[in-house]
Amino acid sequence: MKNRITSILLLVHFCLLPLFASQTGEGLSLEAQLQKQGLVNIHSLAPDILVELKYSTLDNFLAADTYDELENCYLQPKAAAMLKEAQDLLKKSHPELSLLVYDGARPRSVQRKMWALVVNTPSEDYVANPNRGSVHNFGSAVDLTIATLDGVPLDMGTAFDYFGQLAQPRHEDRFLKEKKLTRQQIDNRQLLRDVMTRAGFLSISIEWWHFNAVPVKVARTQYKIIE
Ligand SMILES: [Zn+2]
Repeated sequence: MKNRITSILLLVHFCLLPLFASQTGEGLSLEAQLQKQGLVNIHSLAPDILVELKYSTLDNFLAADTYDELENCYLQPKAAAMLKEAQDLLKKSHPELSLLVYDGARPRSVQRKMWALVVNTPSEDYVANPNRGSVHNFGSAVDLTIATLDGVPLDMGTAFDYFGQLAQPRHEDRFLKEKKLTRQQIDNRQLLRDVMTRAGFLSISIEWWHFNAVPVKVARTQYKIIE
């Protein structure tokens, strides 16, 4: 009975969501546009994943909220299913922890806002040109960390979007020897890499928080840029 009520509530929730979402602003809201392009709210697959879209707050390197009202993380269906798998793997070995997502699919309209804030500044290197797009713009990349169930992130040695070598996995061995990273910090990163890569994601050598669901070339040929 309880399951039936939950199903009905979920059905009502998901039926009404696009209706409400489309009533804000001119035309469709950002969220409704993502839904229309076939992207999946990761909470519809894995309600227990923690989400704090950093670019929907002022706590990011741009010090700007470029996502406005969007608070949910959307991904291509394949990437969303893989993220649920990563959360399940983490839960199996560490029930006291959860993935904490900072960014997923990023529409080109948001990428344009970001680009306008950094163009001709030293931060320009850290934002993809919206004409070409990044894997986030194809809905196939996720930025995330691991946190306790009440949302306190594990110590990864640097903050999210720290632009320096200390955030780059390729230098971890050296920084461990130089005592600039601790074994615990590297183990925390390794736990994140372990569950993400076992779920099929690809890690990159320059950001501990970024994972691609498919190789860059595949994203560019298989998907359109999210608008
Ligand atoms: Zn990223």
